[in-house]
Formats: sequence, structure tokens, C-alpha cells
Amino acid sequence: MGELILTKRFNINDANKIDVYLQTGGYHAARKALLEMSPQDVIDEVKKSNLRGRGGAGFPTGVKWGFIPKGKEVEKYLCVNGDEGEPGAFKDRYLMERDPHLLIEGIIIASYAIGANLSFIYVRGEFVEAISKLQSAVDEAYRYGFLGKDIMDSGFNLDIVIHRGAGAYICGEETALIESLEGKRGYPRLKPPFPATKGLYDCPTVVNNVETIACIPSIIDHGGEWFASLGCEKNGGTKLYGLSGHIKRPGIYELPMGINLRELIYKYGMGLRDGSQLKAVIPGGSSTPVLRADEIDVRMDFDSMAKAGLMLGTGCAIVIDQKTCMVRLLLIISRFYAHESCGQCTPCREGTGWIYKIIKRIEEGKGSEEDLQTLFDITDNMLGKTICPLADAAVFPVRSFISKFGDEFEEHIRRKGCYCPR
Ligand code: SF4
Repeated sequence: MGELILTKRFNINDANKIDVYLQTGGYHAARKALLEMSPQDVIDEVKKSNLRGRGGAGFPTGVKWGFIPKGKEVEKYLCVNGDEGEPGAFKDRYLMERDPHLLIEGIIIASYAIGANLSFIYVRGEFVEAISKLQSAVDEAYRYGFLGKDIMDSGFNLDIVIHRGAGAYICGEETALIESLEGKRGYPRLKPPFPATKGLYDCPTVVNNVETIACIPSIIDHGGEWFASLGCEKNGGTKLYGLSGHIKRPGIYELPMGINLRELIYKYGMGLRDGSQLKAVIPGGSSTPVLRADEIDVRMDFDSMAKAGLMLGTGCAIVIDQKTCMVRLLLIISRFYAHESCGQCTPCREGTGWIYKIIKRIEEGKGSEEDLQTLFDITDNMLGKTICPLADAAVFPVRSFISKFGDEFEEHIRRKGCYCPR
């Protein structure tokens, strides 16, 4: 399986407790950063590591931190995004449940680098166990002097607040998350200005995903170049890949950035369940374009996926067998986006609802020949024309499902209903 950074404590009993964390090298990196490095040293090391945002966007983390203005004139904030609402994604939840101190240590180092004295962990409200484990870990960290005033006699102060989200998918979008933290409805903001200049309470803010921040202690402990060497070009480190759906061994796998999707499914996931054949894969959560079975020889890193016209997204793949009705599956996905649109932008609010209604009609056997073209016209009017990427996320599955499995949609229309084996 190779070097383990993020999951190395997953099989250790009580790894969520501070004593176990300390016995296994915990808080060494925070001590090193706070006592031996300047904030700029930390940012430079993270830049060298080629760490890219694990929430799906893949923006270089060190570069993002470098956008935060220096000096103490204004407050700065770090918001850690643990909202993880993407269907198919379940990696951040495991990190928060199994190794919460790793995340806290990463937050201490990241906050020190950007000059934040108050950081938030925004956690999906349904993650009851993760929230409880995180809160216990934060309390322990205060008791041991890793949080609060003058941490480890470094002169650096940091408080961490755990904030429970109320279950809106859109609050995983960074500016909606900020609005929600401010106590408002989770409406995404128009960008620019970006959070680095005007974020939480209009102050410079970094929003990073849980997995991204959990990579930071190992970068400081072993160096940015070491971390970069674990992955592939411009995509440093290991990554938590997820497998769900009709797979023999669903779960989370920590593997080097750039693993081949076929290898992930057949070597690590042990292939499909007995008697099943692969029909399709949604490679990075429901908002990424679907792949046919003959298209899975792709490397799972940000650049390789983009080059192939795909998206790495969360890196959590949904494996689909030959018995699955692609119309029914798209119906479920489109219902999700119609439900989760915040309603600010007309193309998204109306488009997602319209898409859902048309696919429902086709699934129920009431579709017409024109419906498929209408779906393309609607998605044309949504793509890139809205405040946040939710509309695009709703469009990609529709276009890719119809382009790659169009015959199934046409057959549903022709035969007036589903003919797939159940
Ligand atoms: Fe809201 Fe959709 Fe507009 Fe995003 S694209 S701001 S979810 S209406």
C-alpha cells in the first residue's frame, strides 16, 4: 500500500485519544513549526510539497496561504471544511472520527502560518460521532497546552471552535460555509472578492478541506520535497480514495496521488461483487462525469483527470454494475441537485428542477424524443452561468450519462418505461 500519512493510526486502539497520539509522534510537527520555523518557512515548505486542495478544486495549498496579507492589523481566520456532503464521499468523516488530533495539529500549523488566532471546523451536523470525537480531542488539546494562550511557550495563541452545520450540501462551498458560520443562510457569495481578501466577518480567510489540513503535520515533520515525492508531478503526497457501490471491498484507501482507477477498483477494491460486471464508474463523487467500463484506465490526479476531460473531485469513486438502470441512477442524482440548489440563480434554481422533472418523466415511461435535446439545451443555459459551481455539478452527470448511455434513455422513451434487469 506504500507510505501511510493519513491512515497510519486508523487501526490503533484509542487513536483518537491524545496519549496515543503523543506516543505515535503526535504534536512533534506543531512543536517544530512553532518553535523552529517562521510562518513564511511553513508556507514555503507547503508550497514545495505540491499539496493541492483535497476538497475537489485542487488549488495549491501553499499558494492559497500565501494570498493572506501579512501583519497583525486585521484578524485572519482558518475555516476547515468538514461538511462533506458530496454523494459517494466519506473520507473526511473517517479522518475526523479516527484521528482527530491529526486534524487539530494541522490546524495549529496552518493557523500559525497564516496568522490566525481563531479557527473553525465546520462539520456536517449528521456526523454525530465525528463531532463528539473532535470535541473531546479539542478539549484534550487545551488541557495539554496545544491550544489556548502561548502554545508550547511559543507566544502563539489559538482557539478552535467546532461548528455543526445544518445539513445543506451548498454549505460545503467555501463562501456559503462562511455565510453559514456568520449565522446567515448558506448562500454562496459572488467572487471576487475571494475569501483570502474578504472572507469570514470580511477578514482574510483560508478555507481548507479536512484531508488537506491533515496532510500538514507530515509535511512539516518530513519536509515538502519528501511529501511531493510520494505523489506524481504537481500532485504531491498520498490521497484518500474511496470506493462504494457494487464493489467487493468498499472503503477508504490511502494511495499515492495518481493511482490508476482500474488498479484502485480491481487491485484494492477486489473488483465487483460476485456475478457482477462493471458498467460504469463515477470517479470522484456524484458531480463528476461518468465513465464507461472501457474508460477506466485513467490516473486519479488533478491534472491527468482534467486532461481526460474529467474531474478528480473528492477521489471517491462509485462503482456501478451491469444491472443498474442509468436512467434511474441519473434520476436519483438529479433529484439531489434540485433539492440542494440554494435558489439564488435562476439557471440553477429552475434548471435543476426542470432536469429532474424531465428525467422523472423518462423514467416513468412518459418521455418523448425531444426530451434529450431539451436536457442539453437546459444544461447549456446553466453551465458556467451561475454564482457557484453547484449548477455545473448538476450538469456534468446529465450530459455525461446521456452522451455515454444515450441508448438506455432512448430505449426508456421507446419502450415507455424501464426494461433493465433488477
Ligand atoms: Fe445557489 Fe445554484 Fe446559484 Fe450556487 S449555482 S448560488 S446553488 S442557485
